[in-house]
Amino acid sequence: MADTIYDLIVIGSGPGGYVCAIRAAQLGLRTALVEKDKTFGGTCLNIGCIPSKALLHASELYEQTGHIFAKMGIKVGAPKLDLGAMMKFKDEGVDGNVKGVAFLLKKNKVDTFTGVGRIAAPGKVEVKGGNGKAQMLDTKAIVIATGSDVARLPGISIDEKRVVSSTGALVLDKVPERMLVIGAGVIGLELGSVWRRLGSQVVVVEFLDRILPGMDNEVCRQFQRILEKQGISFKLSSKVTSVDASGNRLKVKVEPASGGAAETIEADVVLVCVGRVPYSNGLGLDEVGVEKDNRGRVVIDDHFATNVPGIYAIGDVIAGPMLAHKAEDEGVAVAEIIAGQAGHVNYDVIPNVVYTYPEIASIGKSEEELKAAGVAYNAGKFPFTANGRAKVNLQTEGFVKILADAKTDRVLGVHIMGPDAGNMIAEAAVAMEFGAAAEDIARTCHAHPTLTEAVKEAALAVGKRSIHM
Ligand SMILES: Cc1cc2nc3c(=O)[nH]c(=O)nc-3n(C[C@H](O)[C@H](O)[C@H](O)COP(=O)(O)OP(=O)(O)OC[C@H]3O[C@@H](n4cnc5c(N)ncnc54)[C@H](O)[C@@H]3O)c2cc1C
Repeated sequence: MADTIYDLIVIGSGPGGYVCAIRAAQLGLRTALVEKDKTFGGTCLNIGCIPSKALLHASELYEQTGHIFAKMGIKVGAPKLDLGAMMKFKDEGVDGNVKGVAFLLKKNKVDTFTGVGRIAAPGKVEVKGGNGKAQMLDTKAIVIATGSDVARLPGISIDEKRVVSSTGALVLDKVPERMLVIGAGVIGLELGSVWRRLGSQVVVVEFLDRILPGMDNEVCRQFQRILEKQGISFKLSSKVTSVDASGNRLKVKVEPASGGAAETIEADVVLVCVGRVPYSNGLGLDEVGVEKDNRGRVVIDDHFATNVPGIYAIGDVIAGPMLAHKAEDEGVAVAEIIAGQAGHVNYDVIPNVVYTYPEIASIGKSEEELKAAGVAYNAGKFPFTANGRAKVNLQTEGFVKILADAKTDRVLGVHIMGPDAGNMIAEAAVAMEFGAAAEDIARTCHAHPTLTEAVKEAALAVGKRSIHM
């Protein structure tokens, strides 16, 4: 009997759960992973980060072929869309990634169980397979990594055909003539961009008076203008109150957020992107007494421990930014803590990327946050119009902004809008993790000609001494 007792059972195989299981196994813990879906990888690999980035990449190339190629002397004629083939390309990318996770779990000798996991008691996880049969597993510790689900709007039912969530928007079988996106957050703008590039007329309705709530205001204002130039239109400070699906076209009622006369907008597809909610259904949390907050998130302490000894939680199911890399880092940290080490996540240095064109990437504090906290700072800004590589590539939209403490020069926030911003933000993450000053970045030799020189120039601009401006 003793050899059936695991040191750790992880419930959920998203980036939080599978990374946690692998790290625990590396540390010598006898580890099992329970997943209810057919494939590993969770939201991120199956219906989130990976398929959306595949479509963003393919649709961006499609658009570039039609616009920028001719300017570079590449004549290919007008590009033709084969949506079925593009979807196949995306599906193959997902398949390769989920198989990669299965391989890694096997390589690290993590036992895997397919079925719905339920915590029957501390130290006991019941797994119910598709055939209805249940088995009970014994364990010393449990990590809840069950992630999140699509948030819904009252009165608007999602059929994943015409009224879709992000999941349905990743598998549409034809390009809608008109798409209405509810919510100007990251996912709405990314998927809205995909379908706009493929030919849809896209209108985005947002309750707040700005897009990308929480991100640096200056970046968002400029970004909205760029998206408008690309053809996306916005209705800010507005709310969707109903979607009538009785006719051939959807009739969407949109009202000012503060109330007032409604207008009706017609659309072929409505994409509901109003956020995500923690997923903890059927897990038995109430029965075992695991505390949740008023938004349904599992409450944890500084060591990812819930109020019930031996039960921990990570990823989208707890508070904090709903990001795959945040979940992964928590997975590593909690495995190390359970193994007796000092696992830790630095929540001040978590990058946030919007994979549109141009990309937006930010880390640390925004100007608004620093002002609200009364922190004196210097801002250094450098536009891509003055960066040699961006100029020659015809990709000059956007800028790099570095915010540094006025007294110590320590970097407090970095905001990049531009080509490849998602890759460039890694430099800022490393610098901030090491407590760098803007001066450190400014004195670091950056290869020429690269877009990263704009980061160095923004750091020089903090001290009002950029060279190329
Ligand atoms: C369209 C879209 C695009 C996104 N793009 C990005 C991006 O570019 N970058 C980024 O950082 N983040 C992105 N995200 C967010 C990212 O996907 C999540 O933050 C991340 O997947 C959270 O990881 P997780 O491990 O906490 O949970 P999840 O990935 O949600 O995984 C949870 C897993 O638990 C399983 N599960 C749930 N309950 C049970 C149970 N009782 N028993 C067994 N298994 C169970 C689920 O089936 C699922 O597989 C995107 C999300 C969406 C929807």
